[in-house]
Amino acid sequence: MIDSHLHLSDSQFDIDRYNLIDNCLSKNFKSFLEILCSADDWDKYHLFEKYADYFYFAFGIHPEYPSHLNDNNLRMLEKYLNIKNAIAVGEIGIDLWYYPDTIGQQLQLMEAQVDIANRLKKPLIFHIRNPRESNKAYDEFFAFIKTRIKNSMEIPAVIHSFSGTLEDVSKALDLGFMIGINATLTYPKNQILRDAVKKAGIKNILTETDSPYLPPQSSRGKRNNPSNIAEIIRKISEILEIPFKEIEMQTEENFKRFTRIFHS
Ligand SMILES: [Zn+2]
Repeated sequence: MIDSHLHLSDSQFDIDRYNLIDNCLSKNFKSFLEILCSADDWDKYHLFEKYADYFYFAFGIHPEYPSHLNDNNLRMLEKYLNIKNAIAVGEIGIDLWYYPDTIGQQLQLMEAQVDIANRLKKPLIFHIRNPRESNKAYDEFFAFIKTRIKNSMEIPAVIHSFSGTLEDVSKALDLGFMIGINATLTYPKNQILRDAVKKAGIKNILTETDSPYLPPQSSRGKRNNPSNIAEIIRKISEILEIPFKEIEMQTEENFKRFTRIFHS
C-alpha cells in the first residue's frame, strides 16, 4: 500500500506520529509521500529521518500562500528539492474555494514552481479546487497547462484529491496525468468521484489519504490517518470489481511509475 499524499508533520500527529507509521509498516505499507507545502514546513522532513527507506518528500508552496512567492523562497525550495528522498514538487496549483480573490497570484506561484520542476525533472503534485458554483479552477488549470505544453511537460504529474468533472478526467489522462484518489470516494454524495475512478481506470490512480484531512465516511469529523489507505483500496475494489490485492499491487506500480524512484 502507498500513501502518496499526507501531512504527517502536522502538529495533530505530535502525540503518536511514529506509532502510526510503525502500525502502517506492519500492515504492508511500501511508501509514504509526505507533502511539505509551506516555507515554514520544509525543514520538518527531519521528523522522518529514521524512516529513510519508506518516506519520500514533496516540497512546494501551496496556493494558499501566494505572498510567499519571492526569489529567496524559490532558491530555498530548490535547495530542499535536492535533498535525498525529495522526489516531487507540490502541492501547487489553484484553490478558488478558499481563496477566490488571488487567482492571478496563484497562477504566478504555480508557474514559477512548474519551471523549477521542469528544470530539476521532478514530478508535479497539483492541488486544484473549484469555487462553489463553477469549474473555474479546473478550466484555468488546463488552460495554463496548454500554454506550457509547448515548452514540454515531460515529467509525471498528478491532480491530487481529484474533484473535477468526467471531462477533466479525460483532459488529465490525455496529458498523461494521474488522478489522486482519497477517502472522499466514500462520501455518499460523491458519485461523481466514483464515476471518475471508473473513467480513469486502475492504471491511472494514485492512492492518498491527505491526512490529517478528509477522513473516510466511517470516521468523518475525526483526524484522518494513513492506515485508512486500506479503506480507500476497498472502495476502489468495490467500484471497479477488481480484487483488493490487485488494486494494491497496481497502485504500487503506479506510484513507481509516477516517482520513478525504483526504476533502474
Ligand atoms: Zn494535501
